[in-house]
Amino acid sequence: MAILIDGNKIAAEIKEEVRQEVAEIKAKYGVTVGLAVVLVGEDPASKIYVANKAKSCEVAGIYSEALRLPAETTQDQLLAEIDRLNKRDEIHGILVQSPPPPHINEKVIFERIDPEKDVDGFHPMNVGRLVINEEGFVPATPSGIIETLARLKIPIEGKEAVVIGRSDIVGKPIALLLLHRHATVTICHSRTQNLPEVARRADILVAAVGKPAMVKGDWVKPGAVVIDVGINRITKDKAWDALYSDPKRAEDLNTKGTTLVGDVDEYTVGPVAGYLTPVPGGVGPLTIAMLLKNAVFAAKRRLRI
Ligand code: NDP
Repeated sequence: MAILIDGNKIAAEIKEEVRQEVAEIKAKYGVTVGLAVVLVGEDPASKIYVANKAKSCEVAGIYSEALRLPAETTQDQLLAEIDRLNKRDEIHGILVQSPPPPHINEKVIFERIDPEKDVDGFHPMNVGRLVINEEGFVPATPSGIIETLARLKIPIEGKEAVVIGRSDIVGKPIALLLLHRHATVTICHSRTQNLPEVARRADILVAAVGKPAMVKGDWVKPGAVVIDVGINRITKDKAWDALYSDPKRAEDLNTKGTTLVGDVDEYTVGPVAGYLTPVPGGVGPLTIAMLLKNAVFAAKRRLRI
């Protein structure tokens, strides 16, 4: 049976290290690390993410400022707010909660954030730095995965890694991070032929698709490390029949009417894989922890330490 990777425990360790570093920076340089989170509109999930980020900042001793703007904010108004934050010395990191309302072009917004305050790592300058393996800001979810593998001493060099998903925020950056650590990397997407066969080659399999329980036990090489990035909220009315064969999911659906599943079918993959990140409690908690780490990194770069 796969060892379930405890993302909450690893995230707690990282957050504690961040808290200590924040305190050290304050003690040595008299500087409080500062993070601004911009939220445009009323998306309920985004509001929860922003509140969670603020709470985590508080625990870590990071000054956080949430800028809540109405849904009708124009792109130019948002750009003007970012310009203001770019100029403020006490703000080391800036992030704009995704997705903004549809009239705002996210790419234009990301490009306006000072690359040295780009804690999400979405600015093309930081994307480029990642491609050429130069130090810069790396998106939090993929860097959380690498941090996890490192802390568990799971070797990457020389291994076959298969990444399912090629998004700019997860698939591509995790593929690059694995490549820089000398894995042989295959990136799969919606047009990939014979996906189960390709996935079965993987010593390290990363699923970042957004399709509930897509990766099945027979897609996985025995002993492989399986990283499930997907977060899919399933409700009973639209429940996938296959999920009922997993007693844990069936119980959730029957008692709460909803369950949170990843892109990996834990029920069939668990008995085959060597390691597996569960959903919830795997990759998810690492994202905020790594974001805080990026904020500290931003402050250290500014202070040239
Ligand atoms: P995107 O929708 O941006 O990308 C999904 C990728 O999956 C695309 O590259 C797409 O291919 C590929 N894909 C879709 N269907 C298939 C298929 N049937 N077979 C193979 N590939 C397929 O998603 P994200 O990368 O943003 O997110 C992926 C998942 O991870 C989501 O569930 C999201 O909620 C979750 N997530 C979790 C985070 C966390 O903190 N744990 C953070 C970020 C995301 P194509 O390019 O061809 O369309």
